[in-house]
Amino acid sequence: MKFQSNKPIIIKIKDKIISRETFTMIAGPCTIENYEDLLSIAKHLKKMGINFLRAGAYKMRTSPYNFQGLGERGLQILQKVADETKMISISEIISSEDVEIMSKFVDIMQVGTRNMHNYRLLAKLGKVKNPIILKRGMSSTIEEWLFAAEHILEAGNPNVILCERGIRTFEDYTRNTLDISAICAVKELSNLPIIVDPSHSSGRRKMIKSLSWAAVAAGANGLLIETHFDPQKTVCDSKQTIDYKILEEILAPIEKLKEIWK
Ligand code: PEP
Ligand code: MN
Repeated sequence: MKFQSNKPIIIKIKDKIISRETFTMIAGPCTIENYEDLLSIAKHLKKMGINFLRAGAYKMRTSPYNFQGLGERGLQILQKVADETKMISISEIISSEDVEIMSKFVDIMQVGTRNMHNYRLLAKLGKVKNPIILKRGMSSTIEEWLFAAEHILEAGNPNVILCERGIRTFEDYTRNTLDISAICAVKELSNLPIIVDPSHSSGRRKMIKSLSWAAVAAGANGLLIETHFDPQKTVCDSKQTIDYKILEEILAPIEKLKEIWK
């Protein structure tokens, strides 16, 4: 099988480039709670040199009794905050019905782990221009994940970024098991940028720093980390959300770690 993703992929979004040659730092709260909090987080991230703001408006919660996100109102807040802070916005798309509206509100759409196999959704995302972050299905092989990316590419959108977010194993100390070797495999098999989400991989705040560094040392082209000014207070995924201090510690040696690959 010859993957289309073998071609060099250079994704241009506003004045930024995402590729195998660049490093993309993405941060933000798991979910949009209100305008004031999101603006405050965005301003802080921007000051730290981060240009990509990720926050969920539609949440795929395991339990229907948990907060499901602010929906369209959340998208409006995200758009306003991203405009005001000149950041690139990212949010998760959970249904084909929302492709049109989301493509207007956000710069980059994320397909979550639970939707990696939703091929109708992927094909629809092949018809928009927005870059797509495609998370690995929690029980998917690397080949299944690359084929999922092909569904988007084949339908006409070359702007796909893969995101390793941990897979289901017998281990239950962590929320999932971060598959570091997936970074190496993807680099061998395709040319798509590959980023890592240490937050959903571990579900544990204390591990985010080490996993982030491990991912960058293994050659990841970026990180996606859930961050909030007061992680304990967040309505969603608070146990894995980090504060600014940890984020700063993570960022400190990143330039040096990236050097390994020069
Ligand atoms: C998320 O990024 O907030 C999320 C729900 O991630 P995943 O699809 O990896 O569980
Ligand atoms: Mn989350």
